[in-house]
Amino acid sequence: MSLSKYQNNRKLIDRIKESIINERIFHAYIIEGDSLSDKSTFAKEFCKAITCREMPGTGCDNCITCTKFDHDNYEDYHFVESDGMSVKDEQISRLQAELKKQPVLERHFAVIKDADTMTVRAQNRLLKTLEEPFPGTVIILLSENRENLLETIRSRCVLFRLEDINEEARGREEADMIFDALYNEKAFFEIKQILGSAVKSREDAYALLDGLERIYEKLLTWQDSRRKMYRKEDIFKAIELIEEARRDLHAKVNYQYALKNLILKIGG
Ligand SMILES: [Zn+2]
Repeated sequence: MSLSKYQNNRKLIDRIKESIINERIFHAYIIEGDSLSDKSTFAKEFCKAITCREMPGTGCDNCITCTKFDHDNYEDYHFVESDGMSVKDEQISRLQAELKKQPVLERHFAVIKDADTMTVRAQNRLLKTLEEPFPGTVIILLSENRENLLETIRSRCVLFRLEDINEEARGREEADMIFDALYNEKAFFEIKQILGSAVKSREDAYALLDGLERIYEKLLTWQDSRRKMYRKEDIFKAIELIEEARRDLHAKVNYQYALKNLILKIGG
């Protein structure tokens, strides 16, 4: 899933895209969002958008660099997180040693998760790097509340504020489209087309299944007026089939195949 998936953050995504295309990439960012928002994934998508040559400013999910990020093996991507208590001085020190080295590819990316929990010593150490950044390096701090960071750090970072990208939102739109198509008994080839444009990766496929499952669960509990068109056992059956498709994905079955199979079974 590239940055284009963050529909709830349209303005932010447009701003990011524009800055990347115009090569105005800053050396430090704070990504702020509540505890439910998956800031780590967003940070990775941001890095993909910077490095991707196929769809600069967005990320294509298919090229070598996008794939490397998705598989967590991009050589110059450094990830630091709290040990459960805090992000420690030594961790920042180790990170700085990595950033000093020549990047394998074009630039280093450093993501500091739980940046709010950095000790004051760690923050002061990081500050030195923010004041004299290594050329090309992009440092991204993930934060629930930037007020927990030293003012001197905040003032050296560009802020991205994430709105509502919690799990509930993932795959919702795509699932609605697919469910509507099924509900309206659209032809299989039409649904296949929707699938083709809505699902571009395994991650998308998982998100779609989550979204579909939530729709059927709402039907089950009469939270959706379309409930009257369904027998309870059909809904149970659909949920079962969704779970089966999820197992297929886990078992590395081709995701397009798994989804088409699901649609055929639910529709039939
Ligand atoms: Zn790409």
